Amino acid sequence: MVPDIDQLHREAVAAIRAAGDLKALEELRVHYTGRRSQLRQVLGSIGSLPADKRRSVGQSAGRAQKDIEAALGERQQVLKLEQEAGDTLDVTLPGRPPRQGQPHPLSATADELVDALRHMGFAVADGPEVEDEYHNFDALNTPADHPARDDHDTFYLDDGSLLRTHTSTVQIRIMETQPPPIRVLSVGRCYRKETVDATHHMIFHQIEGLYVDEGVSLADLKGTLTALAQRVLGERTQIRFRPHFFPFTEPSVEYDFSCTICDQRGEVEGRRCRVCKGTGWIEIGGAGMVDPNVFRHVGYDDEKFSGFAFGFGIERVAMIRHGIDDIRLFLESDMRFTRQFSS
Ligand SMILES: [Zn+2]
Repeated sequence: MVPDIDQLHREAVAAIRAAGDLKALEELRVHYTGRRSQLRQVLGSIGSLPADKRRSVGQSAGRAQKDIEAALGERQQVLKLEQEAGDTLDVTLPGRPPRQGQPHPLSATADELVDALRHMGFAVADGPEVEDEYHNFDALNTPADHPARDDHDTFYLDDGSLLRTHTSTVQIRIMETQPPPIRVLSVGRCYRKETVDATHHMIFHQIEGLYVDEGVSLADLKGTLTALAQRVLGERTQIRFRPHFFPFTEPSVEYDFSCTICDQRGEVEGRRCRVCKGTGWIEIGGAGMVDPNVFRHVGYDDEKFSGFAFGFGIERVAMIRHGIDDIRLFLESDMRFTRQFSS
């Protein structure tokens, strides 16, 4: 008797597609296509069938065999892939934590300086990097013939505006809009046409402070800068003033922090200290009492109010803190450099 080949065909394909693993699939292969399978028996007996049935039985059995073999091949491929994945995927392994970013050493240093100043009552003020000549020079009492205005030092844009050469511009903008007392800090990027080398860059970052009120003195400036230095570079840090000239302050000073690398001895393990070059002091920045001319530009009563201003480069402090000897490293975006400062 000839079995129902079409039913066998459907049953075999369904069973093969549902096979759970390679072993079960092999059993199905033997059952449906092996030497003793019904299908093989049908195919082997076609010659003995009545002539009128040979053709249709032969076609059905041939089609069934072809489909079953195709289904076996497909299922085997899927099960093999699953098995391979299962061999390498250990679902009990802990997940891989995503790589965490970290602040750039300049940002971290700036944040700490800002934090220290905020604790002393300074509010953060912001201003544009593309400035006009008035805010960058005139209002800061920088005369028209001052060498800093020369386009050798300043990047001028086609429309006459410029890239700010310091963050003092922000102080002017604040004083134009607010009456005293004022206690603000500004922090940000500045630009000067410098030849780039290990200690100079045409892009750098500054932080500045401005305090205007009745009776503000140079002693307040020294106290503020000393507290700031000790907060950022350590308790033992000292500060010294040297007379200087700036157009926008009178009197003006440059100030140095004592070298915390060699503890002011000028040498480390018998060698000259590289950070302070053996002097025990590190030049940091400029400061002074705000020039009365600046107050007049912004409409403050220069008889009633006095104030101090100071500023310095954030790169300088970050280099001292981390022992970095080349300012260019800050802007190269080399991950090998930035990853060292996980602080
Ligand atoms: Zn030193």
